[in-house]
Amino acid sequence: MHFRKVFSLSLACLVTLFTIRAAAQQPAASSQPSAPPRDERLWKKALDIQRKAIVVDTHNDILSMMTDDSYDIGVSSVGKYHTDIARMKQGGLTAEFFSVYIDRTYVRDGGSARRALDMIDYVYSAAERYPNDLMMAYSTADIRRAKKQNKIAALMGIEGGHAIEDSLMALRDFYRLGIRYMTLTHNNTNNWADSCCDEAKHNGLSDFGKEVVREMNRIGMLVDVSHVSDKTMSDVLDLSTAPVIASHSSARALADRTRNIPDDLLRRFAKNGGVVMVNFYPGFIDKNVVAASKERDDRLKAQVDELRATYKDDSKRLGEELNKLLAANPLPATPLSALIDHFDHIAKIAGIDHVGIGSDFDGVPSLPVGMEDISKLPNITYELLKRGYSETDIKKILGDNFMRAFAQAERVAQTSSKRLSGDGSVKRISQKK
Ligand SMILES: [Zn+2]
Repeated sequence: MHFRKVFSLSLACLVTLFTIRAAAQQPAASSQPSAPPRDERLWKKALDIQRKAIVVDTHNDILSMMTDDSYDIGVSSVGKYHTDIARMKQGGLTAEFFSVYIDRTYVRDGGSARRALDMIDYVYSAAERYPNDLMMAYSTADIRRAKKQNKIAALMGIEGGHAIEDSLMALRDFYRLGIRYMTLTHNNTNNWADSCCDEAKHNGLSDFGKEVVREMNRIGMLVDVSHVSDKTMSDVLDLSTAPVIASHSSARALADRTRNIPDDLLRRFAKNGGVVMVNFYPGFIDKNVVAASKERDDRLKAQVDELRATYKDDSKRLGEELNKLLAANPLPATPLSALIDHFDHIAKIAGIDHVGIGSDFDGVPSLPVGMEDISKLPNITYELLKRGYSETDIKKILGDNFMRAFAQAERVAQTSSKRLSGDGSVKRISQKK
């Protein structure tokens, strides 16, 4: 149900509502690019770097399945999901940000904050169930401790600013519960910030939106600008006194999607000291898939409209029929090189200190060849070695850049003059005008 995240307003959006959990079983894309034979000496070096590095993935949606399907992350989900503890270890992961994704329907139906509280509890219970594998973490020091103890640091980021229900008190409470970043919007514009994929209402950040950013800086919660509009991102980069992150966004210059970041904003991350974590989804990284997806949407529009009319009162059946239609019209496969191109591009435009990993595993219905699940992360290290990146630069991309930005945000909070919660900012958007 959460895959609706990716495809607002497109054909795939409709399908995702009902059937995406079957995505892992989706037939392979139309043609699989063949991978050249592996250089075993270089692969050995890649594994060595992966083992030594702090590897941080800043966005994974497996928590939605843990919450809605009671999925036990300690049990293998090969062929069903992209993530489980065994494959996280195989991928050499040090820290994972579990996405506390709040669907826009909670804005309509109410209960956004309650939904977040429920999801947060599932992360804690997973760490309690697997104390030798997972460790709750809230800081750079915790992540380093997890590395030393050979455990995976479990961190949390809220996705969708509507989760705070327009309250700075709720924002601070979420920080106390362990939330360390918030994505200011999802694909829906909320009451104080414009989204990338919805109508603009605030010309970026409203006055209250600016209060939210200042308060996040003050308490040490990272400001995440994935999913926001270009103007909102620009307002945040103007305002934030701490490094800004894009927890799972790719480069618009390589794949023309509003969900991606244009070069002029990428350059501003360098000045801000922020980091852009590359999203792995083919629909955001592969221009051939972007084009094929648009062409498919147009080509199948009549059939989709007919299905919608036929099954307007049977959403489950509608989803299944749409899924069949998609399966019969697959998109081209995406080679791993298309993903690595985004690391290259952002490193070139923003600088090698400003790029990282934000997979969106279990938040997307398809992935590049060679990156089918979280165990494949070392393939990024291998491909970067092949492109001549140094060990130091690879470690920056794997996690050191994120750790630098997170540490700087921690320092900003520690040096903030306003010590009392809500000092000077106890505002809430007052409904009563
Ligand atoms: Zn997302």
